[in-house]
Amino acid sequence: MNKNLEQLIELSKLNQQIDDIGPQIKAHEHKLEKKLSQIDGIKLDFEKTKQTIVDTQASVKTNNTHLKELSKKLKEIVKKTNKLKTQKEVNAVQVEEDIARQSISFTNDEIERLQNIVQLKKTQNKERQENLKIEKKLHDDMAKTVKQEIKDLNTKIEEISKVKGTLSQKVDTKLLSFYESIENWAKETAVVIVKNRACYGCFMKLSNKTYSMLKLENEVVNCDNCGRIIYIDDEKKLD
Ligand SMILES: [Zn+2]
Repeated sequence: MNKNLEQLIELSKLNQQIDDIGPQIKAHEHKLEKKLSQIDGIKLDFEKTKQTIVDTQASVKTNNTHLKELSKKLKEIVKKTNKLKTQKEVNAVQVEEDIARQSISFTNDEIERLQNIVQLKKTQNKERQENLKIEKKLHDDMAKTVKQEIKDLNTKIEEISKVKGTLSQKVDTKLLSFYESIENWAKETAVVIVKNRACYGCFMKLSNKTYSMLKLENEVVNCDNCGRIIYIDDEKKLD
């Protein structure tokens, strides 16, 4: 194979390798971000529940005040009943007393219901705090691993770039800048293989003239359609 072409294929492969590392780094970062947002979610639930506890406790307080008023009212009713003389008067006050007792009973039930909610919410938040500790620890461990993994991947990029740099120096300057102008838009597909007479960058069939030139391999050939540098498998040359 044409030496220039071989070098360009190699350069293109190195670029491909560098390009493949980017998404790997992103994936590691994403894993960490996901864990962080999970922790934020727990924190948010914790704060919301904390507010619910405060609000419910305020309701308990209001109900307790109401209960005191009702008890006071009931005492007054009972006192009034003792002074009454006719049955008709007693009956009338009895209704008032029943209502007061009923209200006391409802208020007590309501206080109990609210206190149960407070208890439940407190238990939930205690569990959340435990969970938060575990998740934070997991996150910290993960952060360490991810940091190392990203560092390793960046080292890999540096190593490949070094190889690429050395190779670039060997490539003819004019050819290199030509290659780089294609690489600017075609990225890792600047140099592509030809299969079944089609360019594997744009998937269009090559003209007979281009295909013949490609088989001769005297020079670097471009796809007539997209302009990418093309090459053919050594075994296919006799096709
Ligand atoms: Zn093409």
